[in-house]
Amino acid sequence: MSNDCIFCKIIAGEIPSKQVYKDDLVTAFHDIHPVAPVHVLIVPNEHIPSVAAVEETHEAILGHMFTVARRIAEQLGVAESGFRLVVNTGADGGQDVFHLHMHLLGGRRLGRLG
Ligand code: AMP
Ligand code: ZN
Repeated sequence: MSNDCIFCKIIAGEIPSKQVYKDDLVTAFHDIHPVAPVHVLIVPNEHIPSVAAVEETHEAILGHMFTVARRIAEQLGVAESGFRLVVNTGADGGQDVFHLHMHLLGGRRLGRLG
């Protein structure tokens, strides 16, 4: 856990969130500023700052994030209509919170990237 990390505090239950899923490896909760009808963040329980800090030892966690994304997509009713997974990385990637997270977006037709 990183002391000044907002997502570590959410994982620890020190800051409230609308949690949708939690297990030993990952936690998922609704984004506080949703940009789509479904906007969930899936985060590793371990403080990994970004994809730029990812190592081979993280592969089980990273793979698990996709399985959890599929489960949440089913749970929230967007698995068939479709959804987008986004992982912003670093300044040019638009990353604001430096605890790795996957955005799960769905519930409307999303525009093209770029
Ligand atoms: P990114 O720009 O990829 O780093 O995304 C960070 C996301 O975290 C943004 O979509 C924010 O709306 C979201 N966010 C920031 N603080 C909170 C919070 N306390 N609870 C839920 N989502 C948050
Ligand atoms: Zn953290």
